[in-house]
Amino acid sequence: MDLNLEKIDIKTLYLSELEEQLLEMGEKKFRAKQIFKWLHVFYVESFDEMTDISKKLREKLEEKFIIGTVKKEKALISQIDGTRKYIFRVAGGSVIESVFMKYHHGNSVCISTQSGCRMGCKFCASTLNGLDRNLLASELLDQIYQIEKDTDEKVSNVVLMGSGEPLDNYDNVIRFIDLISDENGKNMSQRNITLSTCGLVPRIYDLAKKKYQITLAISLHASDNETRKELMPIANRYSIEEIIEACKYYYSMNKRRITFEYSLVASVNDSKNEAKKLAGLVKGLNCHINLIPVNPIKERDFVQSNKEAVNNFKAMLERNGVNATVRREMGRDINGACGQLRNETMNQE
Ligand code: SAH
Repeated sequence: MDLNLEKIDIKTLYLSELEEQLLEMGEKKFRAKQIFKWLHVFYVESFDEMTDISKKLREKLEEKFIIGTVKKEKALISQIDGTRKYIFRVAGGSVIESVFMKYHHGNSVCISTQSGCRMGCKFCASTLNGLDRNLLASELLDQIYQIEKDTDEKVSNVVLMGSGEPLDNYDNVIRFIDLISDENGKNMSQRNITLSTCGLVPRIYDLAKKKYQITLAISLHASDNETRKELMPIANRYSIEEIIEACKYYYSMNKRRITFEYSLVASVNDSKNEAKKLAGLVKGLNCHINLIPVNPIKERDFVQSNKEAVNNFKAMLERNGVNATVRREMGRDINGACGQLRNETMNQE
């Protein structure tokens, strides 16, 4: 598969744009809705499968468009809870990782937004080799479409928490949110979409102005700027205080409770005092803190906080009036830190 720059990737187009394209081609506007449905409801991968479209029009479509997809390369299935980790190959040859998880409230998929990442967070495996490229909206959608086809199950929730920084691929991610929640397509509720960011402050303001009903999750991981800088280079650009301000703005626009992710690293950010500082930072903001015992990667010597430290941290937050949960580990038997399966696959090649 090569990146095809001459043809338009039809799966990235809004219905209105597809209508324009068809009118330009001298076709009837209503054809766009039919085609949109083939792409986003039936998940076809070729124009020939669009059986209510004439052969002649299918040929014309073929000349002008491609249907952007990702190709399943590998899937690991947990025997414990049915979690599946996928490796998909994208145009240009690189690989990305996605995860399917079963919860009582429905099935959830964690998708990658970039192949690789350039944010450089110290504990994260996805950033070790830098950024390869931004994923297109079609490639974000297709991670979900392929997983629905592969599992024969419906996916009701999506988290943008795989490789990559969603707000560093802003335009494609916006397009993805619009398309996945389009009532003529998959029609996913925006309330079931979570976007996780390391905190690109100006982009948080942009996103807030879209007034989506999605959940914003912030990877905070520290309760002071100095510690945060040790873990996340982006902290040299934007302070925690600026992030909190942006979150308040997001809440004022969308009335959606903010999630803060906090990976607990032994002796780095997991003391009771830090929990107390964290509670102080988010005071007055309608939010929830998701504690994640750090998943150690072999390239770095970070150590996971022990159970006692995690429980103490959580208790201290709650004592200070802040909601907190510890993230449940899924697919323990196929688990590696996020991005490790991708790295392994790349290294084997
Ligand atoms: N770039 C975005 C989304 C991808 S990472 C972001 O930074 O939010 C999704 C979450 O997993 C982030 O909170 C990230 O900090 C966290 N994460 C990455 N590697 C981790 C590891 N080894 N252990 C625990 N959490 C990790």
